Amino acid sequence: MRIAFFGVGNMGGPMAVNLVRAGHQVRVFDLASSLVDAVVAEGAQAGGSPADTVADAEIVISMLPSAAAVNGLYLGEQGVLASIPAQALIIDCSTIDAATARTLAQAAAAMGRTVIDAPVSGGVGGAKAGTLTFICGGPAEAVERARPVLANMGRNVFHAGDNGAGQIAKICNNMLLAIHMIGTCEALQLGVDNGLDPKVLSDIMLASSGRNWSLEVYNPWPGTMDNVPSANDYQGGFAVDLMNKDLTLAMDNVLAVKGRTPMGALAKSLYGLHGAQGNGRLDFSSILSLLKVRE
Ligand code: NAD
Repeated sequence: MRIAFFGVGNMGGPMAVNLVRAGHQVRVFDLASSLVDAVVAEGAQAGGSPADTVADAEIVISMLPSAAAVNGLYLGEQGVLASIPAQALIIDCSTIDAATARTLAQAAAAMGRTVIDAPVSGGVGGAKAGTLTFICGGPAEAVERARPVLANMGRNVFHAGDNGAGQIAKICNNMLLAIHMIGTCEALQLGVDNGLDPKVLSDIMLASSGRNWSLEVYNPWPGTMDNVPSANDYQGGFAVDLMNKDLTLAMDNVLAVKGRTPMGALAKSLYGLHGAQGNGRLDFSSILSLLKVRE
């Protein structure tokens, strides 16, 4: 298929490359030309402008950092929405607030275009390996149309509900991720404070009711697991800044729906503090250091 791809950063770059490898004609655009060059070297074409990038596209994908960037791309003064062929399907994979996703879908529908939100889980490793989980919101038939293309970049494609529902499911997941990562750090620290070996304690909890994803594949305690950020001074992985972005989206939504998420609010407070202490670019499992009172 002819695919226009906007935003070839840490996530979008490898996703676009996987589309090229699957045999699609991929035309990419990014504000950073060096990132475009890297994907062009893998077989993509460079779009001269946003309008040129979408000119004959059948699928348009965006993987941008923020709602402002998404609005700017599609709806701003130079908005590309009007240039996208009416039959093309627009898939926004950025993590943004659900309200913006719904507004974009409505604006697109008013112009005869279809948008789905499809934020991802799986991180940069998943983007490179083509094992991402896509969490979609939008009309069922549009999600079905997207499915084969998304399958070239990921392993799971879920349909969470109408436009915006993908974003809601994503922030629910990441709020829970933040909570169980902090809980895992606390439990390991308590054990170590009492003289336990963190690896032995991890094995015990993995075979007991404390088992969770953080413990299973992302142990935050250095030396307990290979090939995870804690084994590499918390470099790479999922940045504290990005976790703070997702927790902010979650807490904004809690206010909007007048919900009650005390654990999520505490997680946001702790991750906010950790980021403010200069750890924003470290992997989110580095939150262990905030809880460490002794080695
Ligand atoms: P990134 O900053 O590496 O990449 C974003 C790219 O978008 C940049 O290269 C930037 O130049 C480009 N961009 C911004 N505005 C643009 C525009 N108008 N037109 C074209 N390009 C534009 O960010 P990332 O880590 O790739 O994350 C992208 C999205 O994926 C974010 O919404 C993030 O929350 C989400 N996400 C990231 C991860 C992760 O582990 N990095 C995991 C899941 C979801």
